[in-house]
Amino acid sequence: MIATITLNPSIDRGYSVKELKKNGVYRCGDYSLTAGGKGLNVSRVLNQLNVKIMCLGFLGGHSGEFIKSKLEDLDICVNFTKIASETRTCIGIVDHDDSQIEILEQGPQIYEYELKDFINKFQHILKQSKIIIASGSIPRGVNTDIYKYLINCSNQNNVKFILDSSGIPLIEGIKAGPYLIKPNKKELESIVKKKINTDLDIVEACESLINMGAKNVAVSLGKDGMIFVGEEGRYKVNIPKIEVLNPVGSGDSTVAGFGAGLLQKLDIKEILRLANACGMSNAMEKETGKINVKTVNELMKNIKIYKIR
Ligand code: ADP
Repeated sequence: MIATITLNPSIDRGYSVKELKKNGVYRCGDYSLTAGGKGLNVSRVLNQLNVKIMCLGFLGGHSGEFIKSKLEDLDICVNFTKIASETRTCIGIVDHDDSQIEILEQGPQIYEYELKDFINKFQHILKQSKIIIASGSIPRGVNTDIYKYLINCSNQNNVKFILDSSGIPLIEGIKAGPYLIKPNKKELESIVKKKINTDLDIVEACESLINMGAKNVAVSLGKDGMIFVGEEGRYKVNIPKIEVLNPVGSGDSTVAGFGAGLLQKLDIKEILRLANACGMSNAMEKETGKINVKTVNELMKNIKIYKIR
């Protein structure tokens, strides 16, 4: 089983308007409402890949109930910690030429007894899991070294931990030795505090993250595929051109593919093929955190993996 951790989930509300203007008033008939948060995207993709999963994290109020019911509709098992405050809502407004505004709430306050409840659930689920995947930001009241703590627990139990976060929680987490981190190029630049131009720059940056503690680093590069540096070598993943509909959530889908491949004990090259095909398939769908398994299988045939010397 894979356990996913989403500490700061959200309801994502999306509006489409004609033209975004300062001081504009928009009347919208239609809008989208989805259970959002990077970890929930990972969970939905794992579910489509037929992987047995359990979702952990914090949910509160009506928004929390909505997210829980959306996941249960998909037969996804959940064991969230119920919190006193309301789960956040994030708003995205897009206009006809794809200009957009995003309003991201910081997230609810988590109280100490709620954090304790989450940790108890995590310790319990850890014993039944082969892999843990933690994604995204952390809500108020949770220490920035939370991922570091969870990774230490996982390593003590020989459970592989995949961390896809950013900022201080990611940097602190790396120090505990996660099995894998998956920054994109921008996130990599912000961790190593350097501009990255070439593949060699990426490899060097990955190596510095490995020196900090990460066991494997997969840098996703959008349409340019991926560079992987880790225990089983260094690889460049070349992907074919695709028709992109919505690339939001492609990184999360890639992480899900990686986790699924790892669970099946695939060879590293096959894992990289599956991970990238999941990211690509998500980019070809309108919905976030959605893949088409048939498309994934087709895409995998045309992904080329090269060893970097
Ligand atoms: P993130 O969402 O974390 O920024 P990326 O945008 O790098 O992650 O996407 C993750 C993976 O999804 C890429 O490594 C690639 O395999 C696939 N992907 C994303 N965008 C595209 C695109 N425009 N064309 C083809 N593949 C894409």
